[in-house]
Amino acid sequence: EKKESETALKLMSDKLKEIVDKDYLTGLYNRRYFYKKANSEFNRSKRTKQHFSLLMFDLDKFKMLNDSYGHAAGDAVLQEFSNNIRPLLRQYDIFARIGGEEFALLLPATKKHEAYIISERMREVISRLVIPFENNSLKVTTSIGLADNYEGITEFEQMMRLADKNLYQAKLNGRN
Ligand code: GH3
Ligand code: MG
Ligand code: MG
Repeated sequence: EKKESETALKLMSDKLKEIVDKDYLTGLYNRRYFYKKANSEFNRSKRTKQHFSLLMFDLDKFKMLNDSYGHAAGDAVLQEFSNNIRPLLRQYDIFARIGGEEFALLLPATKKHEAYIISERMREVISRLVIPFENNSLKVTTSIGLADNYEGITEFEQMMRLADKNLYQAKLNGRN
């Protein structure tokens, strides 16, 4: 009996963790978990003097997609976006949905040029994606901003600001 109630308790606590840390639509980590992990990962990289990179994603012209095909189509695209990035992740990468159509990827022990190669691969996979929804074939692209913990960055928030700035630049440069 004791063993049984322990198992039940474990199941319940796992379920609770899932609800608290994850985004319901995509199954990815949520914003809250992302910031918690990001700060501890940033501090660890600082302590161990390791490289650490961050990618910030924002889907392009997503409002237009919703307006043309409906909110359910937008939701399907968010799910397919997530499902197609997931297989490209490495064991220690942390991928999260941090806003409506905004995602962030923590890349521990990853140099800037490696992060760039990873981001290029992801951008390309997404741009080739065709998502069947009702009678339509939906397409989407993503713009990506990259930041790394180069000398002079002392807080994770600075990395977020830098990635955000670069993401904005990617939008200005024509998106995708
Ligand atoms: P840009 O290329 O400049 O990023 O243009 P955009 O249209 O993607 O930018 P904007 O921020 O204006 O629009 C984001 C849209 O994402 C608006 C909002 O309705 C939609 N969105 C946010 N969360 C969700 C969601 O959970 N589901 C769906 N279907 N749409 C969402
Ligand atoms: Mg946005
Ligand atoms: Mg957008």
